[in-house]
Amino acid sequence: MFNNIMTRSIYLGIILSAFVSNINCTAQEAKYIFYLIGDGMGMAHAMAAEAYNRTVAHNDSHLRMMQFPVASQCTTHSASSPVTDSAAAGTALATATKTRNGMLGMNPDTIAVTSIATQLQQSGYGIGIVTTEDADDATPGAFYAHVPNRSMTYEICCQGAECGFDFIAGRNLRGLKRNGKPTDLPDVFARNGVEVVRGLGALKESKSRKVVLLDSIPFPDVWYYTIDSVPGLTLAAMTGACMDHLKKNGHDKWFMMIEGGNIDHAGHANDGGTIIKEVLNFDDVVTMTYNFYLQHPDETLIIVTADHETGGMGLGNNSLGYNLQLQHYDRQKVSKERFTVYCREIINSGRNYSWQQMVQYLTDNLGFWKYVPVNDNDTAELERIYDKAITHNEGTDTHTLYKTFDQFTETVYHILDKATGINWTSHAHTGGLVPVYAIGVGAEKFTGFNDNIDIPTKIMEAAAK
Ligand SMILES: [Zn+2]
Repeated sequence: MFNNIMTRSIYLGIILSAFVSNINCTAQEAKYIFYLIGDGMGMAHAMAAEAYNRTVAHNDSHLRMMQFPVASQCTTHSASSPVTDSAAAGTALATATKTRNGMLGMNPDTIAVTSIATQLQQSGYGIGIVTTEDADDATPGAFYAHVPNRSMTYEICCQGAECGFDFIAGRNLRGLKRNGKPTDLPDVFARNGVEVVRGLGALKESKSRKVVLLDSIPFPDVWYYTIDSVPGLTLAAMTGACMDHLKKNGHDKWFMMIEGGNIDHAGHANDGGTIIKEVLNFDDVVTMTYNFYLQHPDETLIIVTADHETGGMGLGNNSLGYNLQLQHYDRQKVSKERFTVYCREIINSGRNYSWQQMVQYLTDNLGFWKYVPVNDNDTAELERIYDKAITHNEGTDTHTLYKTFDQFTETVYHILDKATGINWTSHAHTGGLVPVYAIGVGAEKFTGFNDNIDIPTKIMEAAAK
């Protein structure tokens, strides 16, 4: 009798523990993973957007990502330097491997390393890669490509065609051209059953399971910034399209990498107003994923981080001391990149464009004099540099990773920085910390201090087995 009771108790215990472990197992597995990477989004970039949101937009809520229960930090150094480039940083965030700057999806010995996207794909996850950058650039490429140098865009695209991911989206593919001539990439994608579509309209017509979505304008010469209101694929539109596509393909679990690439571009340009608008834009996409989380709270993990800091951005400068005047960015209607294109057009056209016309442009598009204080010394300096760099084309250009800025543009935005209180140490990346925000299944793994290679490792721990 006693033995019988013992046996039944043991059986009941086994059944109960199996049941409980099954509940725990289900509750602790992230079936829907959103990995959001703000390219170049350091602590100051996020904080500038947060401060603007609070002091200028008068929004009492923190940015969505800052409301997540886990808010921590991440180091970004590569195997070759305390200051990483995007290829080594992307490789770290995608594969949990430190590599040398410039290398993509390979360790320092040029051995290919597998990304978590590929691993999750092999576990039955649908995979989506979305960026406002070119889809063969470093961060997206780190999730599907293995090349010793990130400039090998044709090879990156070929590996993208072969990777079998459901959805890859970006502004364009650099690999479509080599030395100015079209490559055979359209055939390579077609051979691998991947349809390359341009624009959301074309995507709607597509019946393919594997899609590369690009913008409808193949090679625009001006970047798409929120502040410039240039029509084009937005990060939100691509993210929504990706989620629809993964659902259409019948996936009951998926992994999405979503990169806000414009933040880095504006960081290289040292363009604070554009950065703030891009971080707010990126945060809107975080909200999109958060709304999905609210529908699937026991199955969803959202991680928000950055690959590195860009620009050495600082909140506060010697002009304003303990003040910030971010409301002046409210008057900025043109990105620094677009403004230098405008200036270059004036220089190249040789047309007579007077200083008074430029004064009107700066008043209308940057709020100078009318809203943004520009003292007499700065006005005199602006007119002097205008005459030198624009009227006589004798200025000294500033070269950055993505753009060459004429001297007048540099002077204009330097005066805007003085007025707002934003400061910079570099036109390149820096070794500064980046934020990590997390919510959902497994989010607690990201508390405390992280190195960038910890992030994908912890995502894999949280994923469904
Ligand atoms: Zn980057």
